[in-house]
Amino acid sequence: MTAPFDLNEVRSYDNVHWFHPWEDLSNHGQVNRTIVTHGDGIYLVDESGKRLIDGPGGMWCMQVGYGNKRIVEAITAQATRIPYMSPYSMTNEAPSRLARKIAELAPGDLDHVFFTTGGSTAVETAIRFVHFRNNVLGQPERKVIISRADSYHGSTYLTASLSGKVGNKSRFDHVVEGIDFVTSVNPWRRPAGQTVEQFCDAKVAEFEAKVMAHGPERVAAFIAEPIQASGGVVVAPDGYLKRVRDICTKHGIVFIADEVVTGFGRVGHWFASNDVFGIEPDIITSAKGLTSGYLPLGACIISKRLFAEISGDHAGKSYFTHGFTYSGHPVACAAGLANIEEIEETGLLEHVRSVSPHFLLRLHALRSIPLVGDTRGMGLVGCVECVASKDDTDPWQPEYPIGELVDRHCQQLGLLLRPIMNMNVFSPPLIITADQIDQMFDILEVGLKRTLDDMVRSGDWRG
Ligand code: PLP
Repeated sequence: MTAPFDLNEVRSYDNVHWFHPWEDLSNHGQVNRTIVTHGDGIYLVDESGKRLIDGPGGMWCMQVGYGNKRIVEAITAQATRIPYMSPYSMTNEAPSRLARKIAELAPGDLDHVFFTTGGSTAVETAIRFVHFRNNVLGQPERKVIISRADSYHGSTYLTASLSGKVGNKSRFDHVVEGIDFVTSVNPWRRPAGQTVEQFCDAKVAEFEAKVMAHGPERVAAFIAEPIQASGGVVVAPDGYLKRVRDICTKHGIVFIADEVVTGFGRVGHWFASNDVFGIEPDIITSAKGLTSGYLPLGACIISKRLFAEISGDHAGKSYFTHGFTYSGHPVACAAGLANIEEIEETGLLEHVRSVSPHFLLRLHALRSIPLVGDTRGMGLVGCVECVASKDDTDPWQPEYPIGELVDRHCQQLGLLLRPIMNMNVFSPPLIITADQIDQMFDILEVGLKRTLDDMVRSGDWRG
């Protein structure tokens, strides 16, 4: 199928006018990005007609794959009936049903759903809600939000400030007051001689010490991705999240699980917090997989307990003066409902759980390639972290980003990845089959070996 538009025109408009997220400004106007013409299942088709496995699944969002008729039809039907209604004063079937469905799928007493336009606005809503709640409760001194190194929570002013990836911080201003960080929970980067259990103990102790240093009555919330996604698919040691959750409960600190990536099937469950890590957060933030990326939508899901504290007789006549024109957008919510229906009716969560062991086997087998320092993964999300020498210790300060070199080779071979410095992360559409997982890792293996050969030839591989 040829592109239904003029490729040269699109390329030049894109180069000149579209200011992209994470744009490399020194290269602006000359990037010549891959033009995607259409999608089919787990594949994207580029301008030359080449089929590429969508390794990153869009941006961690493409759960049910491209070309899903159920979602397309639901979007069309909803847009035809009522494409928009003001969420400030009206309601409609799709958002009401979706709110109820999310409340049913969410763990514990998470019962109240605030719709947003994406992940950043869901996290922003969570933080604003927490501060609002504390003010209503007469605890205005509870302000501090504790976040973690290597975390990513969004690109609004506040959520970027809460994010812990130092590489993203340069030359922007950030909110500093009232935000603090604990250090990386990546067990692979633990100090030499420390066991994973000792590392876990140290991280829990660090969190508690941080709370005590601020004074527990001044700490409003802790925010954590159950798996740190763009930080490099970092899974904290067993028991870490549960122990930190217990400390939060003890001191009345709100626990926010940022499940923008892990929600809606990525690890074989609707949410990872309870089903994988055994914790019931006070708030979950979600987006991406909620609509499989077909339309922008996010949700901030709040516990009954928190909500009850500041509503009805406890509200003190206050309005929650926060919201978006597109909160509960009926077309996006119709896409969300159809997406959830698709996941349920096709048994996609069970499918993820059944193919994940094979995915992880192939992922971890890559460690036999000398260029690979570490592999990490869970469900259908993974990361390969490369090293230029076995002594490399800092993933964020490499001499040059190996991830891009690997990605270039893989794209030639038919696989898209997402390079982040020396890492490549991937989260393919959840409909991927065991054979397609093999195709994906066969390509990745060749891509890594070719990159190693290049680095040996150029003298950049230091062994
Ligand atoms: N939180 C996490 C864990 C994410 O990975 C992301 C995006 O990748 C966000 C929040 C921000 O979501 P959005 O880009 O939809 O604003």
